[in-house]
Amino acid sequence: MEHYDYLIVGSGLFGATFAHQAHKKGKKCLVIDKRPHLGGNVYCENIEGINVHKYGAHIFHTSNKTVWDFVNSIVEFNRYTNSPIANYKGKLYNLPFNMNTFYQMWGVKTPNEAYAKIEEQKSTAIALMKAEGIIEPRNLEEQARVLIGNDIYELLIKGYTEKQWGRKCSDLPAFIIKRLPVRFIFDNNYFDDRYQGIPIGGYNRLINGLLDGIATRTGTNFFENRTQWESMADKIVFTGKIDEFYDYKFGKLEYRTVRFEEEIFDIPNYQGNAVVNYTERDVPYTRIIEHKHFEMFGSEIENCTKTIISKEFSTEWKDGMEPYYPINDQKNNILYLQYETLAKQEKNIIFGGRLAEYKYYDMHKIIEKVLALQEFQQ
Ligand code: FAD
Ligand code: UDP
Repeated sequence: MEHYDYLIVGSGLFGATFAHQAHKKGKKCLVIDKRPHLGGNVYCENIEGINVHKYGAHIFHTSNKTVWDFVNSIVEFNRYTNSPIANYKGKLYNLPFNMNTFYQMWGVKTPNEAYAKIEEQKSTAIALMKAEGIIEPRNLEEQARVLIGNDIYELLIKGYTEKQWGRKCSDLPAFIIKRLPVRFIFDNNYFDDRYQGIPIGGYNRLINGLLDGIATRTGTNFFENRTQWESMADKIVFTGKIDEFYDYKFGKLEYRTVRFEEEIFDIPNYQGNAVVNYTERDVPYTRIIEHKHFEMFGSEIENCTKTIISKEFSTEWKDGMEPYYPINDQKNNILYLQYETLAKQEKNIIFGGRLAEYKYYDMHKIIEKVLALQEFQQ
């Protein structure tokens, strides 16, 4: 039986980046993944010449030049800029909240007019809180009203958020909404980051580039032959679920999951944008992704005569479903801490990535974390 320096469980961005860096240092690695393909959640399937993001739309963005240079050294990135549209009862609004949104919402045309409108709405929200003796927003609903006012909260936040999280905004933590930028310029770029794009030719090229020259096995579940895998390497890099690693001894961590309904149309352009959010409660899906817009621009869109969309339905996670979003509420965070305490005592196991750390990481954060690991210093 071959022996390896590292057995890497999971071929997502964490596992693939780790393997790449270790391989560069002359270490012998084996990467296994239980899915029938490599790449974890960034995996795309090419259908009718269009790269379909099978586990949800992925847009790479970062302000970290080292990370940007690193991914571009593997594959060149295109100029895609995420600028989602919100559809509320058939009326369209630009996101994130910016001068275009304020114009569409209230007809205001200058930053001063927009400030005045938002200030008026904010002060009403603050006054209502004060009347109840509340000083700091206690939940997402209060936070959103204080941040941007009631109109935007009711039309663009409430329904979407309650669908996405399956909980009332008044029962959700305030921090979720602080991620959304508010701008007093006409700029629909969703991210504030300096660099942004999609790998030219799709994410599989990034993963294949990272794993070039490294032994991999798909359709291979670590837990089905754990003792054998553990004996095959000096160290294990584990990117699966941490509670599963410890046989759920303290209990099961919870997640939100997403169900995707895919449709192919014999038309070149379905919605004119990669991402359209449906912000009203009555539409059962949260958003529609039209995949070709991530990689096709200008005449390329019309030249490709078909298009593929995915409707996203956010649901509660149950065993057997894909665990997408950790629910970092108090109950789950406390449970995670118990597992983390065990993980910290392990000498030859590195736990990393969104499942092993039970944390929502964007892609650039995953790469940043791998590059900063002790293993790859000096
Ligand atoms: P994963 O990609 O989940 O990889 C873990 C791998 O481990 C999987 O392939 C799994 O099959 C494998 N595995 C698990 N258990 C076992 C086992 N027992 N044996 C063998 N293999 C196992 N980030 C952005 O920056 N921009 C975005 O636009 C964005 N959109 C997202 C949309 C959605 C719906 C989701 C869920 C995430 C999004 N992200 C986005 C975050 C991004 O997906 C993560 O940062 C990244 O995929 C995490 O990589 P990972 O390697 O930690 O996990
Ligand atoms: N959000 C919203 N309306 C939108 C888009 C986002 O209310 O049209 C809220 C929602 O609560 C979401 C949060 O903003 O959870 C963060 O949005 P982002 O797009 O960053 O979420 P992601 O899907 O990347 O977690």
